[in-house]
This record gives sequence, C-alpha cells and structure tokens, in this order.
Amino acid sequence: MKINNNHPLKELNTLSIASEAEYFTELESVDDVKNAIEFAKNNNLDLKVLGGGSNVVMSDHISGLVVKYTANQCCVLSEDESSVRVKVDAGYDWHQFVLYSLLNNWNGLENLSLIPGTVGAAPVQNIGAYGVEVKDLICQVNGVYLTTGVEFSLSLKECEFEYRESVFKQRLNGQTLITSVEFHFSKNALVNTKYAPLNTMAAERGEPTPKLLSDWVVEVRSSKLPDPKVLPNAGSFFKNPVISNADYERLKERYPNLPSYPQPDGVKVPAGWLIDKLGLKGKSYGPVSVHKNQALVLINHNGTAKDIAFAANEIKREVKACYGVSLEQEPRLFN
Ligand code: FAD
Ligand code: NAP
Repeated sequence: MKINNNHPLKELNTLSIASEAEYFTELESVDDVKNAIEFAKNNNLDLKVLGGGSNVVMSDHISGLVVKYTANQCCVLSEDESSVRVKVDAGYDWHQFVLYSLLNNWNGLENLSLIPGTVGAAPVQNIGAYGVEVKDLICQVNGVYLTTGVEFSLSLKECEFEYRESVFKQRLNGQTLITSVEFHFSKNALVNTKYAPLNTMAAERGEPTPKLLSDWVVEVRSSKLPDPKVLPNAGSFFKNPVISNADYERLKERYPNLPSYPQPDGVKVPAGWLIDKLGLKGKSYGPVSVHKNQALVLINHNGTAKDIAFAANEIKREVKACYGVSLEQEPRLFN
C-alpha cells in the first residue's frame, strides 16, 4: 500500500475538477482496506472512498485519506440450468462487467449499459436506467465498516434500496467500503423495452436479445449524453422530482405537454423537461453550463465545486420560481 501525499484528483473525477487529496492510496484487497483503516485511525485522518468519480462534485482540497478499491475479479458462486449467482469485486468497471455478464448469457443488466463508474458504487445510489435498477439483480453487498474495520454482508433487504438511494447513501453514509457485490442472474432472455426509445426501436427492429438491447442502449446513450472525457460532466445533475397529484394537476393546466409518470406517492416529472422549457439549454453560469442538448447535464469548463454549486442553485431557484418544484441534486459533494 503506497500512500501519496497531495495527490491530484483531476483525472479521477468526470467533472474534471482540479481537486487534490491530502493523502491517496489504491487498495487491492480486504486486508489492504483494514490496513488503510488502521493507518487513518493512527494518524487521525478521515477516510473517504472514491470509485470512478462519476457521481461526485469534488471540493478543491480533500483532507484525510482518499482510497480507491481496485480489485476487479469475478467468480461464479453457484449455478443451475436457469440461473447463476456471481460475486464481483468492487473495482470492476461497471460497463465492462455488464458486457462480461452478457457474454456469459447472464441476463438482466443490459438496460444499465454504458453507465460510468465501478461495480462497488452501483449499490450506493442503486443505479438505474430505462426501467431497470441494479437492485433488481443484487442479492448481497459485502464490505468493511470504516468505523470499526469489521467486515459486513448485507442482504438485498438490508441495503434499503429506493429510487437512486440505499442504506449506503443514507444511514451508513460515509461509513462503509464496499468490496464486492453478489448478483443473481437469469439465463432466460427476458428483455425490458418499456421505456422510450427502446420500445419504438423494438417495434421497428423486432424484439432484441439482451446483447442486442445493450447495443441499443449504448447507441441511444452515445447519441444523447456528452462523453465526460470530451465535456466534463456527472450525468444527470438533478433527480427527477416526484410531485403530489394536486401539484401535477396544477402544472398540467399550464403545460399540457408536460410528460408524467405516475408513482405510488405522486407523479414523476422529468427535471430535464422543466429546465429545458425555461430556455436554459446551453446557458452558462461562469465556467459551468447547461448542456446544449441535455438540460439535465451540467458541463464543467475548468470550474470548481463552488462554481458548480452556484450554477446548480441558480437552476434550482429558476425551476422553483416558475413551477414551484424543488429539485434535488444527484451527485454528492466529496470533501
Ligand atoms: P463515485 O462517483 O466515485 O462515488 C459515488 C459515491 O459512492 C461516493 O459517495 C463514494 O464515496 C461512494 N463509493 C464509491 N465506491 C464505493 C465503494 N466501493 N464503497 C462504498 N462507497 C463507494 N447513474 C445512474 O444511476 N444511471 C445512469 O444512467 C447514469 N448515467 C450517467 C451518465 C454519465 C455520463 C455520468 C457521468 C454519470 C452517470 N450516472 C448514472 C452516475 C454515475 O455513473 C453512477 O452513480 C455510478 O454508479 C458512480 O460510480 P463511481 O464509481 O464513479 O462512483
Ligand atoms: P428520458 O428517456 O428523456 O426520460 C426522462 C425521465 O422520465 C427519465 O429520467 C425517466 O425517469 C422518466 N421516464 C421516461 N420513461 C419512463 C417510463 N416509461 N416510466 C417511468 N418513467 C419514465 O431520460 P434520459 O435522460 O434520456 O435517460 C434515459 C435513462 O437513463 C433514464 O432512465 C435515466 O434515469 C437514465 N440516466 C441517468 C443518468 C444519471 O446520471 N442518473 C444519466 C443519464 C441517463 P427515471 O429516472 O426513473 O428513469
């Protein structure tokens, strides 16, 4: 375990913020994790876990020890004719794992293709896209409590997954390092094409195999979403708000074209639509701008966390003033 002092993090976050960690190290095993916890404790340092840096807004200087878990093996735990249980190390690149699963005829993750980041971060915000959430395939999450150095295994229920939420983001926020995730895959090729534009593509091109559906998702996402290597971003900057039925009826009167998706607790409306209708696509707030094609994505042109917070607050203020809807930021501040 080699610990670097004043380690640059610009290359390690997709918003490309020129941040710096007081201490930084890569961890290759559970033993490494325990040693890092011991080192942090002995030196009175906070320990902070970084994955691929695609869902964080980094402050200029991160005090304490930033760790990145890099183990990236995958093994089959059990298998029968129709299903398979697989354990994957947290450092495995998410999209590469999706491709690997499909190559093995392990189905279910195809809708989550091309999401940046690591396997270890996937349960943290219960990543989701096109009607599938990672919780649909997860059966167990393993890791180490940062507070005690004790290992844990949490069942699906114990992970308390919700829409872009989990126990790791809520009650155990900042207290765990996930070292591996266990998935349960079906070998049956049942695909989910209920979201647009996958439903139209299926109608035009015929029902896809899981591998083909993954290709379609890659095709759609590549055409819609800016590549963080070219235009630094953290994906959707705001969650899609769920508003009350009464608020929805009120908005629908003013905006008959407002898209809506009924939920058990109200109506989900697309945050991108609300921002777009305000004419904010392409608008700059200092070094941060709203992407010209995707209103939900903020692009960072060498700005800092403060610049990003300023832009996000302005957008939230304008959305609240016009629609009375409060937006919630998705990427967390990493400081
Ligand atoms: P990081 O950004 O490094 O970390 C995110 C959080 O998880 C931090 O709080 C960190 O401390 C914690 N964390 C990371 N690794 C671990 C670990 N091993 N143990 C414990 N805690 C950990 N998200 C979606 O849900 N759906 C999408 O469709 C989607 N599309 C995106 C598209 C683009 C272009 C971009 C840039 C982002 C997108 N995202 C999407 C957001 C992001 O990719 C996911 O949230 C992803 O899971 C973050 O992974 P990461 O490894 O980069 O995590
Ligand atoms: P989109 O298709 O333009 O849809 C806008 C929003 O409406 C989506 O976010 C989705 O909410 C909701 N929606 C669409 N069809 C729906 C349906 N049939 N039932 C219920 N809700 C529906 O979205 P997009 O921006 O191109 O993204 C496509 C998918 O990838 C979405 O699932 C989105 O969440 C995901 N994505 C996430 C990120 C991120 O950083 N978090 C970035 C890019 C894309 P949901 O959020 O519930 O899906």
